Amino acid sequence: MLKTILIKLLNLILYPFKLIIKILVGLLKRLKFSIAFKISTTYLILYIIIIMTVALTTSVGYLIFELQKFEDSTAAKDSEKIISTFPNFNKINVKEESYSSFEIFDKNLNIHFASGRTGRYADSIIVIAEKIIYNNEYVHSESFMKNGSLYYMNINYPMEDMLRDAWRISFMVLISGAIGLMFFAPIVSSTSYKLIGPIKNMTEITKTITVNNINTRLDVKGTEDELKELSETFNEMMDRIEGGYKTQQQFVSDASHELRTPIAVIKGYVNMLDRWGKNDKAVLEESIAAIKNETDNMQDLIEKLLFIARSDRSTLNFTKEDFRICTVLNEIEKETKMIDASHKLYFKFYEDATIYGDKMRIKQAVRILLDNAMKYTPPGEYIMVSGFIKDEYYVIKVEDTGAGIQKNDLDKIFDRLYRAEESRSKQISGHGLGLSIAKIIVLGHKGKIKVKSTPKKGSEFSLMFPYLDS
Ligand code: ADP
Repeated sequence: MLKTILIKLLNLILYPFKLIIKILVGLLKRLKFSIAFKISTTYLILYIIIIMTVALTTSVGYLIFELQKFEDSTAAKDSEKIISTFPNFNKINVKEESYSSFEIFDKNLNIHFASGRTGRYADSIIVIAEKIIYNNEYVHSESFMKNGSLYYMNINYPMEDMLRDAWRISFMVLISGAIGLMFFAPIVSSTSYKLIGPIKNMTEITKTITVNNINTRLDVKGTEDELKELSETFNEMMDRIEGGYKTQQQFVSDASHELRTPIAVIKGYVNMLDRWGKNDKAVLEESIAAIKNETDNMQDLIEKLLFIARSDRSTLNFTKEDFRICTVLNEIEKETKMIDASHKLYFKFYEDATIYGDKMRIKQAVRILLDNAMKYTPPGEYIMVSGFIKDEYYVIKVEDTGAGIQKNDLDKIFDRLYRAEESRSKQISGHGLGLSIAKIIVLGHKGKIKVKSTPKKGSEFSLMFPYLDS
């Protein structure tokens, strides 16, 4: 009960202080201090702490040194004199001595003799320090044997002069420190502002960067330090963002271009229908066939673009399950043999394996390679699909003896909407998205896609998927 009342009372008394601290902390949080100001203040506070410590330690050191000297000379002589005179103290006139009083205690520390006021035997450094602080007196204490008995003795010395000197020393150190501060403060402040200068510069430049001047970069001149590293890292990041932005822009422009052609063709046929198709059956049929073909083409392109967009937005979902890869490969073999009678087709699956993946997507990826092999290989030539295990992957290899790919095209064929010049000029159907999609599927299964090709001799594409067991 009493305890809770006391706690409540204490809380009530402390409330105004707590409120002031809360307001101050809130105010400090709201105030915006620059880093330079914070660095300068920290250094200045450190400087002041160091100066105060130096002032304290020098004066305490001076006191210890002087007292040591005093102990060895004056105090030693005085104690010798007192002990030799003991117990006839009437021979000693305290007023003529350097000490103010002395006390003798018996072996039970009861007072035996006191020349002035009495105190307790100074048996520890704490009692000595207490006397120095409260009475401005130094106590020399020791024990001695006289006439077969043990005695203890305090000799008290006034030490106002010594303390005054110690204060003077502190004061002088503080004054020199303050003079030093007058020089130190502007140097610290200007150095901090110089150090932080590049950050201000960076902030200003960064604020101005938009998509219209995305090629703006920070100045990385100057000495090697963390700020230079920061600028370089920022510039590298901007390089990546600019690269990505340009690729995206290129992709949008290429995709629009790809869509423009079928729309133009459809428009042409619709105009033709409008003019002659109503009465001319041949024109009508030709237009319908062409429009159907172009809309199919557009649908295919849009579906592919959507697939890539979903992959970019990470909203592409794979429905993964364990399945035997040969079931998919056998299906592909059957379907291909049905739709392609113009090439010499060979299918050879050396091994089977269980794969954890999206069956439909993996089938789609193999189909993309096969469609390409059929497109870019002249009729009568060979196409071979094989399946086997190599290291930790199940490899599906699609080889053809077709047109092959030029060396400088090889690293670009996986880029979106990229088609080798030959494919464009020969007007082979396609949008340059198949291999990008196959790559997305393979990477989504932690696999690899590889290509080897010799122009005019043929190409060899390999899809590699990690497998569970064979
Ligand atoms: P598309 O076939 O629709 O043009 P892809 O992304 O599937 O798009 O292929 C990109 C390019 O790679 C093709 O335009 C073609 O130049 C080349 N290519 C792909 N597969 C083969 C192949 N089997 N033989 C020769 N060139 C190929």
